[in-house]
Amino acid sequence: MKIDKLGEFGLIDQIKAMFGPIDPAGVEGIGDDCAVVDLGGDELLVITTDALVEGVHFLCDAITPYELGYKSLAVNLSDVAAMGATPFITFLSIALPPRVEAGWCTEFLRGYRSHNVPLVGGDTTGSIDKIFINVTAVGRVSKSRIKRRSDARVGDRIYVTGTLGDSAAGLKSILQHVDNKALIAAHHMPRPHLAEGQWLGKQASVHAMMDISDGLASDLGHILRASGVGAKVDMRKVPISDELYQADHQPIETAITGGEDYVLLLTAGAEFDDAVVDFDGKLYEIGEITAGSSQIVWCDGEKALEADFKGFSHF
Ligand code: ADP
Ligand code: MG
Repeated sequence: MKIDKLGEFGLIDQIKAMFGPIDPAGVEGIGDDCAVVDLGGDELLVITTDALVEGVHFLCDAITPYELGYKSLAVNLSDVAAMGATPFITFLSIALPPRVEAGWCTEFLRGYRSHNVPLVGGDTTGSIDKIFINVTAVGRVSKSRIKRRSDARVGDRIYVTGTLGDSAAGLKSILQHVDNKALIAAHHMPRPHLAEGQWLGKQASVHAMMDISDGLASDLGHILRASGVGAKVDMRKVPISDELYQADHQPIETAITGGEDYVLLLTAGAEFDDAVVDFDGKLYEIGEITAGSSQIVWCDGEKALEADFKGFSHF
């Protein structure tokens, strides 16, 4: 069987089945945006790692080294934000082919440095012809503030903290050589929603949270499976930027399935309404958690549609 039959999540399930049984006490391993480590105090450590591969995640003639350095850390900080945590330290491993200029590396590091989070270790090696980057980020969060994918409750409302689909449309613009600056910026320099994540972490009424990296359809599915619930999403309420409306023939579909948004997806109980007046960020309500088995019912207003959408998978 080839890897595309097994699929990205099939392989992760296999790893989880093999290694889950040897997870030490106090560690929550595979399954959330970060692994969670309880060292015994009031705080938890959260740890995440993400790789970026030339030709798969970025094209060197489309992205500047500064943007790539920024994005390499941003996608990891987004996972830290998703737990309600604050970034603490990071590690960077990078494999570079001989063609890379020293100045390229300096610009890459300037982009990485722009997040102002410590880089305390890593590995540096050569490669044959592709750039390969792997970042690990460690965050801290108090036990009372951590948010997981598995805590959505029936009756919760579902929210996102930004517009969806811009990054996917940015990638399309790059591949079609269309100079749509706003969409390309969304793809190359996604802002990790750290301040939003930390504020949402403090709210007891926020139950489940994750970041959207594979598209709403796929990532909401992760919350539903982890929590054992279903969802109803009103497609009219999915937030779409003016730029996406102008650039895309199917903006709603792109918003639902396109990946790499790096906004937060959360579910919250009714008491959230009182707290939210103090929220210094964007928040869009898009649907509701229902009793059900991981199924998303896509609606046009109140009317349920026969639609099924898939997010991004590597294989
Ligand atoms: P995210 O998009 O939030 O980075 P992923 O969808 O990449 O999360 O991964 C889902 C879960 O599977 C995470 O808990 C991640 O740590 C874990 N995971 C992914 N790939 C591997 C791997 N090769 N080995 C162990 N765990 C993995
Ligand atoms: Mg994530």
